Amino acid sequence: MPPTKVDAPVREAPAAPGAVPAERPTLSIVVAAYNEEDVLDILFARLGEVLAGLGESYEIICVNDGSRDRTAEILAAHHARDPRIRVINLARNFGKELALTAGLDATCGRAVVPLDADLQDPPELIGDFLRLWREGYDVVYAVRDARDTDSWLKRTTANAFYAMLRHVSNVEIPPNAGDFRLMDARVVEALRGLRERNRFMKGLFSWVGFRQTSIGYQRPVRAAGKTKFNYWKLWNFALDGITGYSTVPLRVATYFGLLFALLAMLYGLYLLIRTMIWGTDVPGYASTMVAVIFMGGIQLVVLGIIGEYLGRLYSEAKGRPLYIVESRLGFGGERPGDRRGDADA
Ligand code: UDP
Ligand code: MG
Repeated sequence: MPPTKVDAPVREAPAAPGAVPAERPTLSIVVAAYNEEDVLDILFARLGEVLAGLGESYEIICVNDGSRDRTAEILAAHHARDPRIRVINLARNFGKELALTAGLDATCGRAVVPLDADLQDPPELIGDFLRLWREGYDVVYAVRDARDTDSWLKRTTANAFYAMLRHVSNVEIPPNAGDFRLMDARVVEALRGLRERNRFMKGLFSWVGFRQTSIGYQRPVRAAGKTKFNYWKLWNFALDGITGYSTVPLRVATYFGLLFALLAMLYGLYLLIRTMIWGTDVPGYASTMVAVIFMGGIQLVVLGIIGEYLGRLYSEAKGRPLYIVESRLGFGGERPGDRRGDADA
């Protein structure tokens, strides 16, 4: 008996992810959105107005980072209204850095601007970005003049972090700059080549180099909705920043070790001489305990630092794709729900 023919679902050949539309736009805007239902309508209204005023051809690539609210629906509706709004739905929440990467991978504009969904990156600056880009800069980044819209704690911790990063790494990450910037397609192409998992986009942006300049702006408060970052997320973000750009913490362990070995040698010498002159005495319990506990603590810290690097090495070694795309809208040939792996990652 011939084997029964299984009805395989008919699938159109998928267009290459991030396929170049018929006409290459001047500007690609990339918006990562995670549970942003409250703000998307305001965003598209204001962004649309600004872009219409500029008179440039554009696409807006929205990456829905596994939102659990109505973000996907709202984005699909905006895509239906304006096909220049393209949507990438990720299979789960991958975090802002990876969502942004998915968006950057899919852009085809001559210049690319990542933008926060909450309008904290005023779209009105894009005109100035374009002017400087046309003057020949490859990267124009926005620097916030004052962080007075952030809390005191966020301000101080952010400043301390950037000061420390400058000292321990050899990439210059401009303080008070975010992801909001314009990048020439060449820069984006260079970024596509950096496939590390533990991404710290601001660091990668600086790492690739190119001709850069900045413009100042006042960072407004969120237009609607609430922040997706808490201090724990920011702390992990800071760890990625430090470990991704510096191996100084690993070296610190060596110096700690040397210092304490030296101290122990001197102390041993002192004990030897003292015993030779005055003989032995029993007391010394307290100092022994202090030394043991202190050394134990240092050793655990150093092990932890090594662990931070080892863990990252492990996740890089697995070489998994950076993100998984659930569906795309507006990239040609696809239907919502079309399962297509992140073949380009
Ligand atoms: N975001 C994301 N995935 C996440 C967290 C945040 O795509 O897991 C997006 C979010 O939708 C927003 C941007 O990243 O467009 C910045 O997030 P948010 O405004 O919450 O950060 P803050 O401005 O408070 O640092
Ligand atoms: Mg924000």
